Amino acid sequence: MSVNLKKLQKEVIRNKLEKGFDMTDVALEFCRAHEELSEAFSKYNKGQDGVAEEFADVMIFILGMCENFGFDLEKELITKIEKNKKRKYRKEKSPNGKDIFIRIKTPEDP
Ligand SMILES: [Mg+2]
Repeated sequence: MSVNLKKLQKEVIRNKLEKGFDMTDVALEFCRAHEELSEAFSKYNKGQDGVAEEFADVMIFILGMCENFGFDLEKELITKIEKNKKRKYRKEKSPNGKDIFIRIKTPEDP
């Protein structure tokens, strides 16, 4: 099954407008997306069901913001995933001994 994110962006906005949601407070939209991600982590951390649904809530806010900002999230995702594939990293240790990955900057990807 493939998903048309542009279509979903439009569906999200249509539903929010039908329900009367006010999306004019951009800072609040960012906060609500973050809130949904925190809900996902909380459920995951407690071993509760519903993590995937919270991820869907995060995406609904992101899809809505993308539509309102005129972004094409599907295009951005494809571009960014390809960019990430080409990135190189070096591994170092953090002060507490954990592996950390430092991106190696290149002229093509400063
Ligand atoms: Mg939620």
